[in-house]
Amino acid sequence: MRVTDIETIPLSHTLPEGRGLGDARGFGRDRVTTLVRVETDTGEVGWGEAFAPGSVVAPVVDEFFREDVVGMDPFDVRCLAEDSYTDPYHFGGSIFVQSALSGIDVALWDLVGKAVGKPVHRLLGGNRRDTLTAYASTMYFTEDDREIADPIQAAVDEGFTAVKIKIGSGIKADVERVRTAREILGEDARLMVDINGNYRPRQAIRTVNAIAEFDVMWIEEPVPPENFTGYREVKASIDVPIAAGEAHYGRFAFKRLVDGRTVDIVQPNLGRCGGLSEASRIADMATTENVAVRPHVWNSAVGLAAAVQFAASVSDYPHTRHVPDPMMVEFDRSENPLRDRILKSSFDPNGGSVDVPQDPGLGIEVDEDAVDRYRSYG
Ligand SMILES: [Mg+2]
Repeated sequence: MRVTDIETIPLSHTLPEGRGLGDARGFGRDRVTTLVRVETDTGEVGWGEAFAPGSVVAPVVDEFFREDVVGMDPFDVRCLAEDSYTDPYHFGGSIFVQSALSGIDVALWDLVGKAVGKPVHRLLGGNRRDTLTAYASTMYFTEDDREIADPIQAAVDEGFTAVKIKIGSGIKADVERVRTAREILGEDARLMVDINGNYRPRQAIRTVNAIAEFDVMWIEEPVPPENFTGYREVKASIDVPIAAGEAHYGRFAFKRLVDGRTVDIVQPNLGRCGGLSEASRIADMATTENVAVRPHVWNSAVGLAAAVQFAASVSDYPHTRHVPDPMMVEFDRSENPLRDRILKSSFDPNGGSVDVPQDPGLGIEVDEDAVDRYRSYG
């Protein structure tokens, strides 16, 4: 089997004026990503997602990958990440090279799975679990005035028992948001908070101490992603696990997060971290150091499918029989048709869990007519 063609498909969806949402660092109305479609001489098609704008991914694919990928055997997929660090020399660790690599790598794994008739998670790490806990990402900061309790109530009504909320706009507002969420969720639900790097270390420490009574499962990006020293400073002063990784690219950046247990949980995004090959290397490195792995997802349905396959394969080490904190996959609850409408059968996290697809490859069927509806020509 040989690759005969690779296509990048830019997708976008824009929320109505005034309906922007986001985190402590800003709002946005545009959801933008790029699908990667790879064809082979056997007529098979593999899908991946580069979680970056198509106007950037397309030239990176053409400049750095097309010549090597067209003609390659998809079974050589794990070589591609290695090559990205040496050819293009010095460019490999950059976000856009890693994003393009991610899309191609996931599409090649989809093809390998289809060729051998197995879902990708069986090829990566074995069938560790058939269902995953789905956690709702919600209570975003919004451009318009919305009741902060509403999205938590909606998540509870949908059956979620694990929820992540945005904080980071000041200690008083942080406490109000966490208290509101905990009151609605009840004491048994898992609650995580995400600062999106909007604090300096001391501010993050103060907030974590102020919300300690609400039993927070992890604090995400308390300081900017590039501030490794800041992570260690926060970690030394708090008793809540720290998570980061959505803004780190490639195994070498993740090694810095894992080294000395700078964070407690790494969160590779399958559309940016280098793909499934790189994510599995990151997972091996992290779990060896007893750092947990929980994929970050703000992607389209294809990136979500890659995250689900990856999450199904990751070891719980050191846990075996008793697993106090089960593997979870993020389900953003904001409006996003790129997540909900481009598959023939979409993921359904209602009830708080999601079944791991057992069909070959990513286990999804992309609806190409729907993809065309969200194709961006801008
Ligand atoms: Mg986050």
